[in-house]
Amino acid sequence: MKILVLNAGSSSQKSCLYDLGGDLQDNSQDSPAGKLPDTAPAPIWEAMVDWTHHQGFAEITVKTHRGDRWTMEIESSDRAEVITKTLATLWTGETAVIADPTAINIIGHRVVHGGAKYRESAIINADVKQAIADLAAFAPVHNPVNLAGIAICEHIFPNIPQVAVFDTAFHAHLSPAVYTYAIPYKYTEQGIRRYGFHGTSHQYCRDRAAQILQRDVKDLRLITCHLGNGCSLAAIRDGQCIDTTMGFTPLEGLVMGTRSGSIDAGILLHLLRQPDMDVDKLDRLLNRESGLLGISGMSADLRPLIAAIAEGNPQTKLAIDVFVHRLRSHIGAMVASLGGLDAIVFTAGIGENAAIIRALTCENFEFLGLHLDQQLNEQRPIDCDIATADSQVRVLVIHTQEDWEIARECWSAEEKGKRKKEKANS
Ligand code: ADP
Repeated sequence: MKILVLNAGSSSQKSCLYDLGGDLQDNSQDSPAGKLPDTAPAPIWEAMVDWTHHQGFAEITVKTHRGDRWTMEIESSDRAEVITKTLATLWTGETAVIADPTAINIIGHRVVHGGAKYRESAIINADVKQAIADLAAFAPVHNPVNLAGIAICEHIFPNIPQVAVFDTAFHAHLSPAVYTYAIPYKYTEQGIRRYGFHGTSHQYCRDRAAQILQRDVKDLRLITCHLGNGCSLAAIRDGQCIDTTMGFTPLEGLVMGTRSGSIDAGILLHLLRQPDMDVDKLDRLLNRESGLLGISGMSADLRPLIAAIAEGNPQTKLAIDVFVHRLRSHIGAMVASLGGLDAIVFTAGIGENAAIIRALTCENFEFLGLHLDQQLNEQRPIDCDIATADSQVRVLVIHTQEDWEIARECWSAEEKGKRKKEKANS
């Protein structure tokens, strides 16, 4: 089975192709999870389109499992043209891995906003597309590019099923107490509530954590910390997300690379009353000019900030202190929501690589019986437990595999569809 995954950002597009082998299709009667590989396989083809380096130009990089590599810069901001060219490298040129577009069995799209309606992934049809379009009011940058990706695939791969995997779906079971903002209730009724994001990453980490700990996911109280350019936490009990730090938009919660995270809403009112401020400027300030970049005045990337601390730069130290303080206090809030803690998971660029952030974060949770093995923490751990043997809380570092999680969702959706058909025919 060949699963194509499209993961679109505002100014980038990642795509990859997984080949799960032919025999998997023949065993469709059984549980889909049982038939998938236990750990994420490497994709046989990967492509990245980046529009950020050179205004008006798309930089395309394609690589295959055989080691072939193809790069190209195209003068075009036309998403459809660039993505069509990129996807054609699946079956043409030196990076070809399939004979033609019909070799693909199913296509998965990461869709940022599924609103309250989509509690799980959905096979894309006219209703699903309409819902994604309607929800663009809540995700104005992302949902339209997700829809564009779907339209491009419909054109290139007609009749091949496509699945929408929503970033919000993992958080769809939040209780009203968790998702309701304390504003006049009519706004909640209009959809202004907490949704949560990074769902595919939190879901992948939940399952991988259970696998590493050899425990049933239903018996675990977990906090997954997705710390990349965007940062969020999920509190997971009985396998379900019961609390999270992102809210109506991915701006709420933790300090991030360029996003402020939660701030006093009174600041927004104050700033909007300034003569030189308007809504678009405030949007840019909170989403692109704040966070680690805003405090340090230097970089959104943690690596140079850590290096600058060693040189005695007080502003970068403050940026990291604020980041860690916010992280610790939100972890504390998640522990309270869970009523206890079995394991904490660090993932994404910062979570997987920054030993110093893991150490500083864990330091304040020793009172829970959480003890980090400092040596293991420093040894570039990946997919392993870095707590001491006697720690009452396990500490895991997991390499997040969002694209693989999307592929797994496609597989499950396909299996569900097959079972439905079989039931109808029997
Ligand atoms: P995205 O959310 O865009 O996928 P990533 O998950 O790649 O982002 O995370 C990017 C962040 O990870 C950046 O802040 C970067 O500094 C940080 N990071 C990556 N590698 C390291 C490292 N070796 N040490 C510290 N931070 C790192």
